[in-house]
Amino acid sequence: MARIVMKFGGTSVASIDRIRHAARHVKREVDAGNQVAVVVSAMAGKTNELVGWCRDAASMHDAREYDAVVASGEQVTAGLMSIVLQDMGIQSRSYAGWQVPIHTDDTHGSARITGVDPDNLDGRLTGGWVPVVTGFQGVSGKGRITTLGRGGSDTSAVAVAAAVKADRCDIYTDVDGVYTTDPRIAPKARRLSRISFEEMLEMASLGAKVLQTRSVELAMAQGVRLVVRSSFDDPEAPDAEGSEWGQTGTLVCDEDEIMEKQIVSGVTLAKAEAKITLRKVEDRPGIAAAVFGPLADAHIVVDMIVQNISEDGKSTDITFTIPDGEFDKAISVLRNAPGLTYESISGSKGGAKISVIGVGMRSHAGVASSMFRALADKGINIQLITTSEIKTSVLIEEEYAELAVRALHTYYGLDKAGD
Ligand code: ASP
Ligand code: MG
Repeated sequence: MARIVMKFGGTSVASIDRIRHAARHVKREVDAGNQVAVVVSAMAGKTNELVGWCRDAASMHDAREYDAVVASGEQVTAGLMSIVLQDMGIQSRSYAGWQVPIHTDDTHGSARITGVDPDNLDGRLTGGWVPVVTGFQGVSGKGRITTLGRGGSDTSAVAVAAAVKADRCDIYTDVDGVYTTDPRIAPKARRLSRISFEEMLEMASLGAKVLQTRSVELAMAQGVRLVVRSSFDDPEAPDAEGSEWGQTGTLVCDEDEIMEKQIVSGVTLAKAEAKITLRKVEDRPGIAAAVFGPLADAHIVVDMIVQNISEDGKSTDITFTIPDGEFDKAISVLRNAPGLTYESISGSKGGAKISVIGVGMRSHAGVASSMFRALADKGINIQLITTSEIKTSVLIEEEYAELAVRALHTYYGLDKAGD
């Protein structure tokens, strides 16, 4: 017997039929003798609609009332899921965030979970009930409804799993796992059976939009094992031989649980990256702060940063990347930045950042150099390079992005067998 949290995303509960289908996955686990708590998102598109209604009502609206409105989508699905489960003969009841309670701070619209009270859920689970919890929402110390930020129900599920000490947290979505790269770009991409938390964090923040980044951080901190899997699978399919959770899916877990460590586990692509270069910036303490402080104040998120060693001890060049959409704003912020002098400012939009990710990089020399070689072989020019312990990223021209991803995918032996 295991204790499992099953989370269903918007597309998995998009209609009554889809909810019934999801409920059959729940029934399978219950029938197998497991204790199950369910966490649900709003039906696909619902949260967008609710957000739109708030904007239509008043462009400047009270964030507390915004949360009261947008949290309602999850309440609908939780109730519907419980009705459907009851109809299948399963004892179930719904819980809104405040009923659990899931405590948060009072940053309305992007609240942080401060604690989940396990007692109510624990009692239900032990008694053989299936509690269905609303994702995305909680209650502040002031007793107001809060929401966790878009995509936040993944984080709710992980927090609930940690609170009830679940053996795993299954995230049901519309893809059957985490892939080595985007299969639409590289048809030879394959599903990873396991990936470490750290690699997943890099994948999530680099645009592999399977899990909310914050949910992975929380899972890593709390040691909650996640399985990313598809609700579109046949709920009654027999368990695959030797697999803990049957069927397909990707386990996101601690590095120690991964026996066959690959040097590179994935290749990611982020398009629409602009680069800006400041030439002959004064070389003195405080200059980087003078460049990046005003950009941060303007809420412009800077990604890659490269600063040269000064040749003459007086001036240096700084290049960095930002999203294309922030390009004009960034240029004007820098033109008006106090105490910043430079010879020229230049830049361009339309770059692509390609990253190779893998915990194996920590112990293997030469991953970066082999990446540069693989790109050179395709005649692709590298504009910027940054590295971290488990990641090497390059900025290249957008038109070569797909070619680069496919080349690296093949180069690191990630292509699926038989192709
Ligand atoms: N319904 C919320 C959203 O669309 C939360 C979630 O689905 O994770 O952002
Ligand atoms: Mg989601």
